[in-house]
Amino acid sequence: MSEIKRVYFFGGKTAEGNGSMKNLLGGKGANLAEMCSLGMPVPAGFTITTETCVEYYKNNMQYPANLKEEVEASLKNVESIMGMKYGDAENPLLLSSRSGARSSMPGMMETVLNIGLCSDTIQGLIKKTGNPRFVYDAYRRLIMMYSDVVMEKAEGVDPKEGKGIRVQLDHILHQVKEKKGYKSDTDLSTEDLIELCDAFKVRVIEVLGNPFPDNALEQLWGSIGAVLKSWNGKRAISYRRIENIPDEWGTAVTVQAMVFGNMGDNSATGVAFSRNPATGENKFYGEWLVNAQGEDVVAGIRTPNPLNEATKNNQNKSLPSLEIAMPVIYKELDAIQKGLEDHFTDMQDIEFTIQNGKLWMLQCRVGKRTGLAALNMAMDMLHKGRIDEKTAVMRVAPVQLDELLHPILDPKSESKANVIAKGLPAGPGGSVGRIVFTAEAAVAAAERKEKVILIREETNPEDVEGMRAADGLLTARGGMTSHAALVARGWGKCCIVGCDNLNINLKAKTIIIKGKTYKEGDIFSLNGSKGLVYDSAIETMDASENPRFVEYMSIVDKYRVLGVRTNADTPEDALNAINFGAEGIGLFRIEHMFYGINSEQPLAKLRKVILSKSLEERMTALTELEPFIKQTVKGTMKVMNGKPVTFRLLDPPLHEFVPQSDEKRIELAKELNISLEDIRTRGESLHEINPMMGHRGVRLGITYPEITETQFRAIFEATAELMQEGFEPQPELMIPVTISVKELDNQKVICDRVHAQVEKKFGIKISYLYGTMIEIPRAALLADEMAQTAQFFSFGTNDLTQMTYGFSRDDIGGFMNDYLNNKIIPFDPFQSLDQSTVGKLIEMGIKGGRNTNSKLKIGICGEHGGDPASVEFCHKAGMNYVSCSPFRVPIARLAAAQAAIKEYK
Ligand code: PEP
Ligand code: MG
Repeated sequence: MSEIKRVYFFGGKTAEGNGSMKNLLGGKGANLAEMCSLGMPVPAGFTITTETCVEYYKNNMQYPANLKEEVEASLKNVESIMGMKYGDAENPLLLSSRSGARSSMPGMMETVLNIGLCSDTIQGLIKKTGNPRFVYDAYRRLIMMYSDVVMEKAEGVDPKEGKGIRVQLDHILHQVKEKKGYKSDTDLSTEDLIELCDAFKVRVIEVLGNPFPDNALEQLWGSIGAVLKSWNGKRAISYRRIENIPDEWGTAVTVQAMVFGNMGDNSATGVAFSRNPATGENKFYGEWLVNAQGEDVVAGIRTPNPLNEATKNNQNKSLPSLEIAMPVIYKELDAIQKGLEDHFTDMQDIEFTIQNGKLWMLQCRVGKRTGLAALNMAMDMLHKGRIDEKTAVMRVAPVQLDELLHPILDPKSESKANVIAKGLPAGPGGSVGRIVFTAEAAVAAAERKEKVILIREETNPEDVEGMRAADGLLTARGGMTSHAALVARGWGKCCIVGCDNLNINLKAKTIIIKGKTYKEGDIFSLNGSKGLVYDSAIETMDASENPRFVEYMSIVDKYRVLGVRTNADTPEDALNAINFGAEGIGLFRIEHMFYGINSEQPLAKLRKVILSKSLEERMTALTELEPFIKQTVKGTMKVMNGKPVTFRLLDPPLHEFVPQSDEKRIELAKELNISLEDIRTRGESLHEINPMMGHRGVRLGITYPEITETQFRAIFEATAELMQEGFEPQPELMIPVTISVKELDNQKVICDRVHAQVEKKFGIKISYLYGTMIEIPRAALLADEMAQTAQFFSFGTNDLTQMTYGFSRDDIGGFMNDYLNNKIIPFDPFQSLDQSTVGKLIEMGIKGGRNTNSKLKIGICGEHGGDPASVEFCHKAGMNYVSCSPFRVPIARLAAAQAAIKEYK
């Protein structure tokens, strides 16, 4: 035996693993072991560890030595507990082989069921079950799954769209059904199934060049290998990228005795949640199908039955519930789900099968849920004393808060619109966009920043990238527990599934609903909370303040140490941010008053400043500009009354404000009463080869001290006026793009002079802070010196990342994906802080700065200030606050609280 244990057995009421071993056994394997130990009815099996998967890849896809012996030993245990023998002609055991990563990746990897059916075992199983129809039904499913997963996907065969073996075999199945006039798969007779299996095997050889293996052991190892390989399948990789799951984790493989939900009308299969995953409602919720295998429910091929009477909806109200159809089993299942929720103290997503009237548990895991459901469940469990406050804070992922703040369809405008179809409300919120029919079209539209609604026949994990890109999802088939519904819910997407009456023509890119044809590009609106589809653009509105959200956030703030400010430059944004809980403004970019609404007048004045030919002319223009700066600065400080506002002096290179086109230049020449030639010459003289590293930030203030002076004066005067009006403004003046304390000293002279003048003019004392951005590595390296003059630092991690990588933040679109796809860098450092490099500079900067001034106030104002992982880093690094856009303020608050709780765990 090797020293490393690679295979963990579970069965009967014992298990070698347990629920805490997710890293090694994957979520599925760990929880199966736990359920076994809890005495729940779990078919025996064993789990091959994630470490084995990592080894397998390192070892050029060779199984480690000894794996075979360990698998064989565990298989013997399974056989003895289940009272059957794998590959045996008389009493054959069948197996399943399933994936299971540390964190759940629903539907993104492969599964093979019914392994072990071959010429040697088929007759034995028929004799044993007395049910040849069942045996051949299982066999045709095995051929289809095995040829698709093991012989095609795992072998890297990449067929053209619509030519894959599964599609081809499905086509044969449809042809038979059509020829015989059958509506459902259950209409197929034993003879039909025998013929179908033969036809399948012939097609497998034709398409893949190899026969479907007629040997139980070959099938077992083929299936184990295919599950390992599916870790690196296309959709698994895409999903990992989106969910930030490391490639290095690997998947576990759980091999388990098969139990059958398709043995007749006394058999069934289902998926359930201990609470409603879309709303969080505390009702046992799920779907089941009689005489079916699990894949039929999750693949969304049939619209399934409701689990109980209390959770029926419009789509399934006429279908029998499990509660009525099999009351004894329902009671047993209900007790198990309650036991599991109590044991794990969290909402459980469970899979079960009923074989000839006996209930078997196939899986349990913490269920994916929408942001709304996460919040409602956390608060409900907290109020009932099931979890404590810290656990409640940890129960909602920071990004999920985004969903709660997401728009819904405006009920007023919705009430006037025409409902064209109804489906199941799988993911809440509203979505308005142009309809598309393929994942590719959705991705392309997202790149063009267009909102689209992706319409699909049924939910298919292959669409994962398109699902991510689309604003809303609409499918004709499938239930609330289908993979797409699960995934969409995890991402907080507006999603409607199982919407009948959709007649999709993929080729023509049209859809017919109630006799009316719609084409790609037409606008639809979805109400994902009610499952309603509209063929018009309905206005959207922000979800109104949910009292539970407010209560939750007040608990969150109890555990937060890090301050949370916002990046805002208008009174409106500032107000918005305060409503989201911002404790100040960490970045007010002065230049933003020259873009967007109401910018015409100040922009004209700034242009006059830029185009001035002499100091005198420039001073005059600056005098005209100053009141505009004062007005917006004052308006914002008024809204932020009593809270700090960090004003960052003009940062971009000046040429950005000179119009580029002749048409605009002619307009400007007229406006300023100067010649077109003058504008052209000045524009050209300002032109820079590399403006991001050119004449910008403090460098402008060094060259044109009068520009700095005007800004200081506007800020101080606004402060003085507000003080006279009874407000409590707290200005902080911030110098951008610095590299040396001498720059800070240079500008401080101006600051001191203007400050004294304004104090004198108004006859009051004005307090303020003077500080700098740290956004160039040199400044971080010289932080101890910078802190001799600066009273605060704010890390500008947009520029700091740009300068550390040497990647232009404006031009990364051209190559970032190549870097990610080739795994040269693991993630986009402009989205999430690269802690090992940029983070190192920050840590050095903090250390250096606080060596000089232990009270130095330190924050971050780059985009990373709203990214949960980066917020956690900032907390650990000892910053005082993070600053982010208003909508991300709640996210940052929660991320900061979670960072603090994790630290004290
Ligand atoms: C930064 O560089 O991180 C920053 C906040 O400044 P800006 O994005 O305006 O360059
Ligand atoms: Mg910057």
